[in-house]
Amino acid sequence: MKSFNPEEFQILVVDETSNNLQSILPTLKKAGYAIAFVHNERQMLEVVEKKQPDLIWIDLANQKVDGLKLGRILHDNPEYCHIPLIFLTANREQEDLIETFDRGIVDSLSQPLKELEALTCIKTHLKLKRNREELQKAYAQLEKLVNTDPLTEIANRRALLIFGEREFERARRYGQSFSVLTIDIDRFKQINDTYGHDIGDRVLVYMTQIVTKSLRKADCFGRYGGEEFLVFLPQTLEDRAFYVAERIRNRIAKASFKVKEKTVAITVSIGIASYYPDDGSLHTILKRADLAVYQAKERGRNQTIANIPIERSQLDLSKHQKHF
Ligand code: GH3
Ligand code: MG
Ligand code: MG
Repeated sequence: MKSFNPEEFQILVVDETSNNLQSILPTLKKAGYAIAFVHNERQMLEVVEKKQPDLIWIDLANQKVDGLKLGRILHDNPEYCHIPLIFLTANREQEDLIETFDRGIVDSLSQPLKELEALTCIKTHLKLKRNREELQKAYAQLEKLVNTDPLTEIANRRALLIFGEREFERARRYGQSFSVLTIDIDRFKQINDTYGHDIGDRVLVYMTQIVTKSLRKADCFGRYGGEEFLVFLPQTLEDRAFYVAERIRNRIAKASFKVKEKTVAITVSIGIASYYPDDGSLHTILKRADLAVYQAKERGRNQTIANIPIERSQLDLSKHQKHF
């Protein structure tokens, strides 16, 4: 467990008056906290925006600061709602106002100010906030780990299928289309056999970097397994998908991956399938893309084939189009 060091935390104190005898300021200073001090809502928002304080202490005892309003402004903003607010109120009745907020982030103390009580309350909320942030960070790391291929650092099979299923549902619900590219490295076994598995690994990484650079942010590229990759292209039909696939294929074919002065030639075969409303599942579409890759291999590799079921075909993809 990380030790608690007050100097690492910044507390914003909101108090209408500077010479308030009940002020928390000296107590916070003595404890070692970094402090910002403001008098009103406008100044508070400026500091919150600039410094993202770890906790806000609002002195409501003189009844001039509208605590409800300040609380609501912070609570309604997703960027600031995680900042704990503590109110110092004049009496117990005034504490009722905190009922309107999420109890998790709002606390209140009433006058007269008791140093130890205030410091304990502040420390508790700061610790809770830090724990929450650490948990969120750990969760984000874990999520990245379960969705990422460790070698290439692109999406793994699991992440690809989650994306694909979501795209399929969206296409079905809203009548949009999407396309899938299946990319398979040609004669990769030979590359391994000639240069060794480690070089094979580096070829995989190199190739994924080329593909990543050829795609839009909305597309999803991942490793489906071994030397086979998928790209989901949202809101894209075969003609545009074909253009993207050819760009990828040409870039890979032209790229020069060097091993000890020698250039390793890499080519890929790409199969394309797009969503059509009578597709029963994502699996059906992946299968079509797979068949197209198989055809590309049969025809000599280093080419793209779009698998368009014959009854749906209205596009002219010339010799690259294959009706199944
Ligand atoms: P084709 O043109 O028909 O696709 O031939 P290919 O050699 O690429 O296909 P094949 O399925 O025969 O071989 C795939 C090879 O990919 C075999 C396997 O050892 C290799 N491979 C799979 N995953 C990895 C990996 O993570 N690193 C390396 N270096 N090789 C891998
Ligand atoms: Mg292969
Ligand atoms: Mg393969």
